[in-house]
Amino acid sequence: MMDKMMDRESYETFRDGLRRLAGARIEPNAARFDSEARFPEESLHAFKELGLVSLAFPENDGGQGGDVLSQVIALEELGRVCATSSLTLMVIWAGLVPISKHGSQKLRDEVIRPAMSGDTVASICLTEPAGGSNLFGLKTKAEKQADGWVLNGQKRYITNATRSDWYTVLARTGEKTLGLFAVHKDDSGLVLGAREKKMGIKGSPTADVTFENCRIPAHRAIGDPNQGHRYITDSLTWTRALIGGQALGIAQGALDQAVKYTSEREQFGETLSRFQMVRAKIADMATKVEAGRALLYSACAAIDNGSADARALASMAKLFCSDSAMEVTTEAVQLHGGSGYLADFPVERMMRDAKITQIYEGVNEIQRLIIAKHVYDRAGAR
Ligand SMILES: Cc1cc2nc3c(=O)[nH]c(=O)nc-3n(C[C@H](O)[C@H](O)[C@H](O)COP(=O)(O)OP(=O)(O)OC[C@H]3O[C@@H](n4cnc5c(N)ncnc54)[C@H](O)[C@@H]3O)c2cc1C
Repeated sequence: MMDKMMDRESYETFRDGLRRLAGARIEPNAARFDSEARFPEESLHAFKELGLVSLAFPENDGGQGGDVLSQVIALEELGRVCATSSLTLMVIWAGLVPISKHGSQKLRDEVIRPAMSGDTVASICLTEPAGGSNLFGLKTKAEKQADGWVLNGQKRYITNATRSDWYTVLARTGEKTLGLFAVHKDDSGLVLGAREKKMGIKGSPTADVTFENCRIPAHRAIGDPNQGHRYITDSLTWTRALIGGQALGIAQGALDQAVKYTSEREQFGETLSRFQMVRAKIADMATKVEAGRALLYSACAAIDNGSADARALASMAKLFCSDSAMEVTTEAVQLHGGSGYLADFPVERMMRDAKITQIYEGVNEIQRLIIAKHVYDRAGAR
């Protein structure tokens, strides 16, 4: 589908292709995924045809070796028409990429190679009932036994939970050490909770995942079972940029809808787009989208180049794009008047979907703490 690093023109060609796919195959189902709270199976088929799942994996695992910017553009274009579909792909990547990065050859052959065909769904299990923001205070335990590992504990709010084949689980391996483990849906002792009822991203199933003496073979420990803290800290830098892409896509989608509606609707004998106050709103919305895009793409470059600023830039991009998504979708509803409050227009769904981007992958208060620490550290101050 694409070369590892592309020039500017190639990224735009890549975006155009995705926009066409999203318009033809994803957008027509978006309202139904939401109203029926149904997993986006049709989107999964479309990802498979385009080989989208393999974009985030290296060539030696059978992937396309796409850089972070290309992954973000993909999530942005999906998010522009359907936040649920964008999230589904993002979480498949978030669950499987740590296995590709750190897993043994045996585990990668078992999990990653088959996943490149696009049929595998995955989850990433970090949050627990007592620990969301305080992620590393988690209680789930993995105990080493002669023939493998035994997991006990409970994970909360897990995306894709009721549809996943593989669950990548962060668990305590010692008093001060954490490890990452690959659990299969058929492993004994894996128990799925009921699907949560949510404000938005309703097509994306969210549920508890509990481990009750869940036994897995030794090779399912992903990499070094004492390096989970480092693996997940690195992974969160990347996934925060991905969520920035989803949020930016939602904001762009709402802006596009607002431009369309205000160009067609008439009041006082004029289209809404002729009123200066409406134009000022559109100008502010477009400025937020473009500012978010510039910040997000510089975060992607920092991650791809291994820059020391990557973590803070990813937090800034996630913070700015998600706050902008909430503001832009709210204004888009306002510009639709009464119609904006009805489920007949996509901006109603977009506003509900935008809210979660300020919460998951670390609430925006936590992003601000990370950014401020980086700024003070850089200044050598306290
Ligand atoms: C739909 C959905 C999907 C999700 N998907 C996944 C998933 O796939 N995998 C996964 O592991 N997790 C997932 N999550 C969990 C998500 O990442 C957490 O909900 C999030 O990190 C916040 O944790 P919490 O809910 O425990 O909130 P808390 O940590 O209890 O925080 C509540 C609020 O307190 C404030 N707060 C907390 N700490 C601080 C602080 N230090 N300083 C200032 N204010 C603070 C903030 O306002 C925050 O919003 C998902 C959640 C939802 C709702």
